[in-house]
Amino acid sequence: MKKADGCIPFVNSEGSLIYGSEIAGIALMPEKPSVLLHACCGPCSTSCVERLAPDYAVTVYYYNPNITDREEYYLRRDTLLQFLNAFNEDHKESFTVGYLEGAYDREKYLDKATALADEPEGGKRCDLCFAMRLAETARKAAEMEMEYFTTTMSVSPHKNYDKIKELGLMLQEETGVKFLDIDFKKKNGFGRSVELSKKYGLYRQNFCGCDFARYAQNDRQK
Ligand code: SF4
Repeated sequence: MKKADGCIPFVNSEGSLIYGSEIAGIALMPEKPSVLLHACCGPCSTSCVERLAPDYAVTVYYYNPNITDREEYYLRRDTLLQFLNAFNEDHKESFTVGYLEGAYDREKYLDKATALADEPEGGKRCDLCFAMRLAETARKAAEMEMEYFTTTMSVSPHKNYDKIKELGLMLQEETGVKFLDIDFKKKNGFGRSVELSKKYGLYRQNFCGCDFARYAQNDRQK
C-alpha cells in the first residue's frame, strides 16, 4: 500500500507497516472530532462509514477475535479493506477514512467463550463477545488520544443496541473516551448497508462470526 505524505505508520497484527489512507483520516483532518469505529466486517461498515465520514475523522478498527475460523477472519478483513479503498477513492476530494487492525486474539476469545458454547445467539456468549471487542476499542481509542469510540455492530437488526450502549457508557467512564451513541440500524442503516455492499461488490457472510453460532445454524438447517 502506498504511503501518503504526513501520515504516521501503524503496525498491524501481522507486523506489516500500514500507511496512507489507513490513517489519513486522523492526520489530514485535525479539525474534525476523531472517532475509532470498531468494524465487525466490510458490509456492516459501509453505511456507518458513509454516515460518519463527512463529520468525523474516522479510523476503522478491525478487532474481531470472535471470528474463530481463520480463513473467514482474513476474508472479512480483506473485504473491509476492499470497501475502504474503494470508498476512499470515491471521496478523495472530501475526506479519507483511516484503517487500523488489532491483534487476532482468537485463543483469548475461545478461552472465555467455550464455556458458553451452548448459549443461543443473543445470550451470554454474545454479551461477552460485545464486551471484549468494545473494551479493546475503547482502550485503543484512549491510547491514541481519540475523542470518541463506537462500533458498527449496531447496524445489524440482530444486535441489541441497549446492551451495546450500556457497555459503551461504562467504558466511557473507565477510559475517559466518549462513546458515540448512534444506533446505526436506525434511519435505514441496515438497508443502506445492503445497497452499498452490492454497489462495492462485497462478500456478505451468512453467519455472525463464531463457529458456535455457525454450527448451531447449520444444525437448524438440517
Ligand atoms: S454469535 Fe456473534 S456476537 Fe455472539 S458470540 Fe458468536 S460471534 Fe459473538
